[in-house]
Amino acid sequence: MPMFRVLVTDDVDPEGLALLASEPMLQVDEVPTLPKDELLARIGDYDAIVGRSATRISAELLKAGTKLKVVGRAGVGVDNVAVDVATSLGIAVINAPAGNTVAVAELFFGATIGLLRQIPRAQQVMENGRWDRNSFLGRELKGKTLGIVGLGRIGSEVATRAHAFGMTVMAYDPYIADERFTALRVRRAPSLDALLHETNILTVHVPLTDETKGMIGKRELSRLPSRSVVVNMARGGIVDEAALVAALESDQLRGAALDVFDAEPLAVDSPLRKVPNLLLTPHLGANTVEAQRNVSRDVCVAVRDALLRNDLSKSLNVAGGAVSELHGAMLVARRAAAVARAVLADQGMRAVRRVSLRVSPDIAHGTGALLASAAAGVLEGVIETDRLNLINARSLAEARGLELSVGESSELGNRTVEVALAGGMQQLAVTGSAPEGGTPRLTQIGSFHIDVNPKQTLLILTNHDVPGVIGRVGTLLGERHVNIAEYHQARLAQGGDALAAVSVDGEVSEATRKALLDLPDVVTASVVHFRDE
Ligand code: NAD
Repeated sequence: MPMFRVLVTDDVDPEGLALLASEPMLQVDEVPTLPKDELLARIGDYDAIVGRSATRISAELLKAGTKLKVVGRAGVGVDNVAVDVATSLGIAVINAPAGNTVAVAELFFGATIGLLRQIPRAQQVMENGRWDRNSFLGRELKGKTLGIVGLGRIGSEVATRAHAFGMTVMAYDPYIADERFTALRVRRAPSLDALLHETNILTVHVPLTDETKGMIGKRELSRLPSRSVVVNMARGGIVDEAALVAALESDQLRGAALDVFDAEPLAVDSPLRKVPNLLLTPHLGANTVEAQRNVSRDVCVAVRDALLRNDLSKSLNVAGGAVSELHGAMLVARRAAAVARAVLADQGMRAVRRVSLRVSPDIAHGTGALLASAAAGVLEGVIETDRLNLINARSLAEARGLELSVGESSELGNRTVEVALAGGMQQLAVTGSAPEGGTPRLTQIGSFHIDVNPKQTLLILTNHDVPGVIGRVGTLLGERHVNIAEYHQARLAQGGDALAAVSVDGEVSEATRKALLDLPDVVTASVVHFRDE
C-alpha cells in the first residue's frame, strides 16, 4: 500500500517519473496540465506535486493541499510557485538548478557560429532557390578573444569549450577567487571595462541582480572593439536592448544573439525581429532532451528523498529541523554578512575569501545554521536567489573558494554573532544580536558602534564628523520619497570619521546613492537590500 501520492503535471520527462514510480511507497498519478478548478479539487489527496512552469502553484492551491509536503519544479525558476506561502505552510519547494548548464553553453556556440558564418541567412537563400557563395564570407572562432561576464556554472562550461576552439578566454567576475580562474585557464579581467576593451565576442552569464541590470548598455558596447559580437543567454535586461539595436544598426557590432528578452514572449511587432545580424531564439537555452531529462531526474530524486527520507537538503525554503529558536540570530548573521560584503564591495574588495564567525556561548549549539546564514548573506545578490538556500549556502560558498570558519567567544554579549569577511588586504567585521523575543539589531560595523534593526534596506554612510551632514542626508532622502525608519550616527572621536546606519523602507536607487555621495562631507555610501525579506 503506497504511503504517499504524487501528482505530476506539465509533461515532466519520463526518466525522473520512472524513478518515482519504482518506489513501492509512492503512487504517481500523471495528468496533463489541468485547469485551475480541477487541480484545486484534486490537490487535497496528494502529498507532493511535481510540474514545470505551466501549472501555477498559487497560495489558494497550496492552502487546498492539506496533505501537501513537497512542490517539485523540474527546472530553475520558481516564479510560478507562491514560495512564501509554501514556507509559511511548511511545504518544501524543490527545484533543479544545475541540469541545464551544458545545454546553455552549447547553444552559445551554436548561435555564435551561426552568426559568424551567417548560417540562418544562407539557409534562407537556399530556401529561395538561389546558390550564392560570395555573400557569405564568414569568420572563425580560432584566435578570437572571448569575454565572459560571470564565471559561474554556465560561464565555466563556455570557457572550457572555448579553449577547444582555440580562443583566448578572459572573464570578469569579481566574486570568484583567482584559483578558479587559474584552474579554468581563464585570464582575469580586473574590471568590466578591461574585459570589453579586449573582447571580440562578449557573452554574459550572470544572474539578473541590481548590479547586472543594464550592465551592458550604450557605454559598454562602445568600449568593445569595432565589429565585435554580443550574446545574452542569461536573463533579459542584462544587455540593454535599445543600445544593442543601435549598435547593430550603425554597424558598430558585427552581430548579436539573444535567447532572453526584457519581456517574454517577445512581442510580435518587436523591433528586434527586424534587425539584421541579430540572431533570436525563444528562450531555448535549457531546451534540450538531455537538460529536460537531467532536471526531471534531479527534481524527482529530491522529491523522493524529501518524502521517504525526510531529506530536505534540496529544498529552497524549508531547512528542516527545529531552527526557530535560532531564527533571530540566523537573521542577524545573514544581515551582518550582507552588510559587510556590500561595504567591502564599495571599497573595491568584492572577491571575499574568508568568512569567520564568532558567536556567544548561549547560541553556540547553532554554529552550523549560523555559518550557513552568513554564507547565504555573502552570496545573496551575487548568485541567483532561486538557487540559494540555507542548506546549500555553505557548499555553494566553498565551491566558490570561500573559507568558512566559526568559533565561540565568551567576550560577546548574549545571543550575539560577529561576522568578519576578508579578501586581499581588507577585512570588515559586523556584529549583531538577537535578544530572545526581541528585535534583531546590528550593533557594530568595523569600529563603529551602532544600534539599528536591519529591515528591508540599510544605508551605510561614512562621513566627516561636521555639523549639517545628518540634515542634508535626511533632506535628500525625503526629497526622493525614501522614508527613514531609523538613523543611527556613530563616531570614533569628535571631528574625525563618522558612520551612519540608516534603516529605510523600500528601495534606494543607484541614482539616490550617487546623489548621497555628491553631498559635502559624505565619503562612502553603501546600500544593502535584504533579499530574504
Ligand atoms: P551561477 O550562479 O552559477 O553563476 C553566475 C555567476 O555570475 C557567478 O559566478 C557570480 O559570481 C557572477 N556574478 C554575479 N554578479 C556579477 C557581476 N555584477 N559581475 C560579474 N559577475 C557577476 O549561474 P549559472 O547557472 O551559470 O547561470 C547564469 C545565468 O544563465 C543566469 O542568469 C541564469 O538565469 C541563466 N540561465 C539561462 C537559461 C536559458 O534558458 N537561456 C538557462 C539556465 C540559466
